[in-house]
Amino acid sequence: EYTNVFEMLEEVADRFSFQLEQRGIKIVIEVAPFLEEIKIDRDRIDQVLDNLVSNAIKYTSEQGHIRIGARLPDPDMLEIAVQDNGIGIPKKDLSRIFERFYRVDKARSRNMGGTGLGLSIAREIVRLHGGNVWLDSEFGQGTKVTFTLPYPGDEEAAL
Ligand code: ATP
Ligand code: MG
Repeated sequence: EYTNVFEMLEEVADRFSFQLEQRGIKIVIEVAPFLEEIKIDRDRIDQVLDNLVSNAIKYTSEQGHIRIGARLPDPDMLEIAVQDNGIGIPKKDLSRIFERFYRVDKARSRNMGGTGLGLSIAREIVRLHGGNVWLDSEFGQGTKVTFTLPYPGDEEAAL
């Protein structure tokens, strides 16, 4: 099974079209030209993307912006980033954000729903597929989560 990266990212945005519309959040997708179709474990990677986009929506105020980008930082590596201009994460919390059940400031997260598992699951999946994931954030400015995968794919992972 081969996956077209642009179509995959468009489909993520489609799955969230209701929430995006409801909150007036705009999403743009930017994929580097000439990307080959990739061989990936599509269900698992969709799970990662859904986690990241749902966070971007949850922690971004009305009329916010989300950008999903895909590029090749190396010839054998695909990099996908989900960036928002939402509330951001305080520096003191950054080192723990991928831990299970860790949520910034219970008060702000409580009424958002969720368990604090999304990022830890995303990291688990990405690592199992030979990639890496990291997060950059500026409190009050926004957050960018980036992950990598082998390019153009991992034969075994796609089975
Ligand atoms: P779940 O994903 O299980 O529904 P969750 O979204 O709270 O719950 P994670 O996705 O693991 O859990 O995120 C952990 C915490 O990191 C969140 O509670 C939130 O405080 C912070 N966080 C994650 N993504 C963002 C983001 N894009 N902007 C601001 N804060 C974020
Ligand atoms: Mg989450």
